Amino acid sequence: MKQHIIPIFIPYSGCPHRCIFCNQNKIAGENIYFNTETIRKTIDNRLSLSSVSYWLSAIGSRQVAFYGGSFTAIPLERQESLLSSVLPYLNNRVIDSIRLSTRPDSITVENLALLKRYKVKTVELGVQSMDNSVLSVSERGHSAAEVRSSCKLLKSHGFEVGIQIMPGLPGDTFESSLYTADEVIKLKPDFVRIYPAVVIKNTGLADLYLSGSFKPLSLGDAVRLAKNLLVRFEVNNIPVIRIGLQPTSSLLEKDVILDGPFHPAFRQLVESAIAYEMMRYAIYRSQKLKHGSFFIPSIELSNFIGQKREVIKKIESEFDIKVDVKPDSRLKPGEFDFDNSLKKIHIKRKEVLKEFLSSTAANYAITGNRNF
Ligand code: SF4
Repeated sequence: MKQHIIPIFIPYSGCPHRCIFCNQNKIAGENIYFNTETIRKTIDNRLSLSSVSYWLSAIGSRQVAFYGGSFTAIPLERQESLLSSVLPYLNNRVIDSIRLSTRPDSITVENLALLKRYKVKTVELGVQSMDNSVLSVSERGHSAAEVRSSCKLLKSHGFEVGIQIMPGLPGDTFESSLYTADEVIKLKPDFVRIYPAVVIKNTGLADLYLSGSFKPLSLGDAVRLAKNLLVRFEVNNIPVIRIGLQPTSSLLEKDVILDGPFHPAFRQLVESAIAYEMMRYAIYRSQKLKHGSFFIPSIELSNFIGQKREVIKKIESEFDIKVDVKPDSRLKPGEFDFDNSLKKIHIKRKEVLKEFLSSTAANYAITGNRNF
């Protein structure tokens, strides 16, 4: 279901310390102290931009989201004051529910009762890694066990749970990122966000990077890793609702990102990497050919072409063939046709992803090589 979200950034509110990678003022692009007054202004401004009647007629759920801090680590009275600012909108049914992000080590039964009273529906946990050594070097201050217990508690109280992970932190490897994904899958979250670690100025990570003790993932490696993570989640029916940091204006300022796999269209790079696997899958299942046409749902066309026609060029050079990629409005997202004039085959994304996952697992079992 589509979600219409009014974000309210509460940078570092409740955070017991600064995690090594975090610079909320640059990530969120906001630095405002929020109180009842400013929260209402933010909601009213957003509603006036889209008009209340449009907002009400929009299909899907309408949420106010508290992002950028550790909501449940804020003193309870202040949490209640923030939540009560949204109450009039909840009572008037302009807003359906609230979502918030927080730390896994600050979820208590008492706190969850408060969140329930104020119609909080969704809680996003900043998990980052399920590898305790990575959590420790990144100065998260919590363990993987706390992720498991908080997730269980949230689910048993009926909250929708989102999990954010950050591959590429110090000490993380391809292997430990896949382990993180597998452990997260066991927790059955309702959705996941993947933010490959980038080096942002004025962070502990920037200090490590400048001293030469940390090297971030390259863009190519991060896309490859994110592809493997996305495949795992999707095969297990867990939606990945975001990959890569939002390109806010403050993040795009000069010298804010010192290094790392940042790209304003990171998700598209990952989707193109998956489209490439799907095209290979179709070609391998066809007879020898010199030319072939892919028919793609219009909405996914750019993924199959790739930036600067990169995907098409790679396929043509790998198989020594000519390919066309054409839109077909009859096809649903997640499926496509391949026609080489002799035979037309219909392919579903899910079957390719399952095959990709089992073949990479088999490759690892034989060669020990995760380099796919
Ligand atoms: S808990 Fe979250 S918001 Fe707070 S410093 Fe760490 S990463 Fe940033």
